[in-house]
Amino acid sequence: MSTTGAPQLAARLGYRFRDPRLLEQALTHRSYVNENPGEGAENNERLEFLGDAVLDFVVSDMLMRAYPALPEGQLSKMRASLVSEPALAAMAQELTLGEHLRMGRGEELSSGREKTSILSDAFEAVIAAVYLDSAGSAGVDAVRGVIERLFRAAVQQAEQRQELSDFKTALQELVQRHYKDTVRYRVVLEEGPDHDKRFEVAVLFRDREYGRGAGRSKKQAEQAAAQSALARFQETLRHAEGT
Ligand code: MN
Repeated sequence: MSTTGAPQLAARLGYRFRDPRLLEQALTHRSYVNENPGEGAENNERLEFLGDAVLDFVVSDMLMRAYPALPEGQLSKMRASLVSEPALAAMAQELTLGEHLRMGRGEELSSGREKTSILSDAFEAVIAAVYLDSAGSAGVDAVRGVIERLFRAAVQQAEQRQELSDFKTALQELVQRHYKDTVRYRVVLEEGPDHDKRFEVAVLFRDREYGRGAGRSKKQAEQAAAQSALARFQETLRHAEGT
């Protein structure tokens, strides 16, 4: 049963369930119900539906308070990235949700426990389970507390990450505007073991290199490369305009 490890899970979540069946349902993948039709178990899809909305609500509220001056468009982008599938899957992994999932044999064999979509859905379902378990007495306070603990650091870093992710967009817009063309990114170096990788990426425009950047992921390195290329293009354009 998935509840074997539930005490640790509850500790990581910072929430103890009154009704452990809710947690169990949140951790039940469709494939388990399909393979064990006699058990009358329910899968986590309805909970996922609700958890998605609860997360959106609480994370929006956190962003509103953390960034009183930012316009709606930027808040939306931040929220989208905070509750994106990869972000939620990473959070599920921190909570070790994968280990506690009930799934069918076939799904299990195709590495279901590590699938981003399955982990992210289970995370949303667990959030809904906390909400339903506590809403009668605590309204949204208990689930808000759980989400705030889990997302506090990410919300605080959201603006910085957003700025970072804008270098590629900014570069693309500039190159499109002035040259009606696009840039390409090429990984020029990839080294280190999986947990400690280092990437170096070059920005190419019409087969010439305009910038280079390094990072712990390809994405990070691309952002850094885009930033350096952006500076270079801006300088070139300033010269061209004779200012
Ligand atoms: Mn989902």
